[in-house]
Formats: sequence, C-alpha cells, structure tokens
Amino acid sequence: MKQMLIDKKDMAGLLTELTGKMAVIAPVMKGGNLLFEPITDGQEAVLDSANTRLSPKDALFPQCEKMMSFTTDRQSEEAFIMKDIEPLEQGQVIFAVRPCDAAGLVILDKVFNQGGQAYEDAYYLRRREKTTVVGLACNKPLLTCFCASFDKGGPFATEGLDVLLTEVGDKYVATVLTDKGEALLKDKKGLSEADSASIDKANKIKDAAVKSVDSGVATDKIKGKTTMELFDDPSWDAFYEICIACGVCTYSCPTCHCFDIQDEVIDTEGVRMRHWDSCMFPIFTVHATGHNPRPTKKERFRQRFMHKFKYFQEKFDRMACVGCGRCIQLCPVNIDVRQLVKRMNS
Ligand code: SF4
Ligand code: SF4
Repeated sequence: MKQMLIDKKDMAGLLTELTGKMAVIAPVMKGGNLLFEPITDGQEAVLDSANTRLSPKDALFPQCEKMMSFTTDRQSEEAFIMKDIEPLEQGQVIFAVRPCDAAGLVILDKVFNQGGQAYEDAYYLRRREKTTVVGLACNKPLLTCFCASFDKGGPFATEGLDVLLTEVGDKYVATVLTDKGEALLKDKKGLSEADSASIDKANKIKDAAVKSVDSGVATDKIKGKTTMELFDDPSWDAFYEICIACGVCTYSCPTCHCFDIQDEVIDTEGVRMRHWDSCMFPIFTVHATGHNPRPTKKERFRQRFMHKFKYFQEKFDRMACVGCGRCIQLCPVNIDVRQLVKRMNS
C-alpha cells in the first residue's frame, strides 16, 4: 500500500490543479452549514472541521435529477418521445469524505448496482464509474458517532475509498487504496513518499481515534431475531409518537435512497425528474387507488428502522446505517437511533 505525504499548505494547490481536469466536490461553508459542493479553487475547501451537515450522496444520487426530456408539441415529429439527458462527460472527485459516508456510498452501490437480472440504475452507475473518492480519517470522532458498531466501520475505515488522508500535524499522510486513487495522485505537485516517522504518528492517531469511538451500541443480536419478533415489539410505541414526520433523518442520511419520479412541463418542454423522497411521509406509499399499506405514523416509523437494521441485512448481509450520527444531531424532537438499535438488539 503506497503512502504519500503532502503539506497542508500545498493541499489547496493540489485541489486547484485537480479542478482543471475534473469536477472537484469538497466540504465548503455555505449559509452557515458545512456542505459538499463543487469548488473552482482549492482555497474554498474546509478540511479542518467535523462532519458535514449533509452527506456527499448527492454527488452520485442527486436530490433532484433530470432523467429524460421530451416535448409535448404535437406539431413536432418527436412529440412525447423521451430523450436521455446527456451523461456526465467529465470525471469527478469527492474530496474529504469521512469513512462513515464512504461506507454509505458502498450501501448505495448495493441498491443501485444489483447487476444482471436485478436492478441496475444507469443514472447512478454512470456517475459512480467516473467518480474517485478521497477520504479524510476522523482523528476526533463526535459524541454522536457510532460507526464502530457496524462491520468494517470505524473512524479510519477504508471501505468505499480510493485514497485515505490522515491529518498528522501540518501534513497529511495519503494512503493510496485503489488504482483510481493512484491515477488521481500520479505526478501531482507537492506529494512525496511518506517517511516512517509520519506513518508511525498516523498509526498512533488512528489507535486513539478507534478507542474514542466505542459508543457501546451493539448490533450483533439483530440478525438472529425473527422479523416478526422485532416487528411486533411493543416498544415501538415508546418512540414513534413524538416523531413529526419531517423527513430530516432520511434526507440527511448517507444511506437513505427512496425517490419519486415526476414529469414536469413548462409550455411544451418537459423533463422527467427524479427527486429524493422519504418513507416517513404519509403519501410515500399511497397507491393510485388511494389505499395506503402504511396508513399510520407507527407503521412508517417502524418501516424506516426495520428496513435499515433488519430487511436490508436480510437482503444484502449488512445494515443500512453507518453510524454517522446526523439523524441524532438533526432530529427536531431528539429521537436517537442508538436507543432504537439498543432496543432492537436487546
Ligand atoms: S440512520 Fe442516522 S446514524 Fe445511521 S447512517 Fe442514517 S443518518 Fe447516519
Ligand atoms: S427527523 Fe425525527 S421527527 Fe423528523 S421524521 Fe425523522 S425521526 Fe421523525
């Protein structure tokens, strides 16, 4: 595994150099929030802050995405014929992704890239193919982080990453993990081979971070429980009532992937759009007949957690939560997913 060294003062230059070759998406301050956004100058990137308000999933699965265009002009020979939107020509790098969010991308891969006879999402896949992911290890995890509760998780986990950066004083140690990562950093200015003293320091920082993130939230028993045992547990009643169905937990979650598709027309120009949706919203499962198979808040609330921790595990052999803690920080009524997990695991 190749390890390189870059001075912090040279990082902005490296990012600016990359913007000449591909789209660079990095954490920036916008409206008082730290968010992943495209940058044109490396100085815009904020690399010394904690996790971003929203995850980087928007770079692969946009909140609003044009899928096709069409015209409703009946005089046109192409009336009502759907045309694919031109795919991304340019590659992109998502920079300074925390390990939990990178694991979130791996979960999205499982959903959108099931291969063969199963579901393959062309819109997601063509973005994914052109995307390189550079991670930033969490030297100081937050109190709401519980990434270590999941297989392969942790503040220095590398799943889903092409390069992992570790902040070591006034430098970063860059661990190259894949060919894509190698190609990204090849012949870039300011990079040198990492010396053993810097690698030792990075390893010590990693050990301290791994110890600090032990949240005591275990998930190991959920797999052995039957679906109905969890489904019928009366303790759902203790959690769901205060939920106001705002959907913040789903929109901020790096692994939530529900969407809705709508045709939108202005004059005769139409687009088929895909928008994020939320299983917490009452109309999410309403059928065209008016029947709603999840008619009450309890059913919708239970679905979110049963899907993340039980159904997804049954289908993909892993849970659809990476312990990023965003839903804990942002839920307006302080619903804490860790308490639900503890209950499900007890
Ligand atoms: S459920 Fe909450 S803690 Fe888990 S990945 Fe989603 S936002 Fe993060
Ligand atoms: S953020 Fe909290 S209140 Fe809003 S839908 Fe999620 S659990 Fe309910």
